[in-house]
Amino acid sequence: MSTPGNPSIRIGTGYDVHRLVEGRDLVLGGVHIPFEKGTLGHSDGDALTHAIADAILGALVLGDIGQHFPDTDPEYEGVYSIDLLKHVAGLIQKKGYLVSNIDATLVLQKPKVKGFLPEMRQKLADALGVGFEQVSVKATTTEGLGMTGQGDAVAAQAVCLLTTAH
Ligand code: MG
Repeated sequence: MSTPGNPSIRIGTGYDVHRLVEGRDLVLGGVHIPFEKGTLGHSDGDALTHAIADAILGALVLGDIGQHFPDTDPEYEGVYSIDLLKHVAGLIQKKGYLVSNIDATLVLQKPKVKGFLPEMRQKLADALGVGFEQVSVKATTTEGLGMTGQGDAVAAQAVCLLTTAH
């Protein structure tokens, strides 16, 4: 039941950008994607997983992933971001909510990631303990324009809807 301090549904949005550089692996939605460049970051630089984690934290009004997993903390150096998302899944449960659904969009020019989207959805769903049909991941380009279009960065945005567990 919805009460003033405990609404029955909560929505959150997340956005993240990571620079694409040589000498790094490209990991998006927990999936290693073969490419000549990878995302720079203190963690594995998984912008998609970060955007989703931020959407959830936003819905829970628990700040952002920078606060939960500081990039100054050696513990998170090179961390597989799916493991961070698993921690965030625990916070959802702790607050008495369930994931209704997540919708996310990856923004990058290259490489083509369409063939990897089902695997990303499965990895993200597994990390959150939800079904494949509750996690949508799409990909788009910016038609050669701007930081993502020029191949300088990968961006991701996400929205999530949480519902009360009871
Ligand atoms: Mg990030």
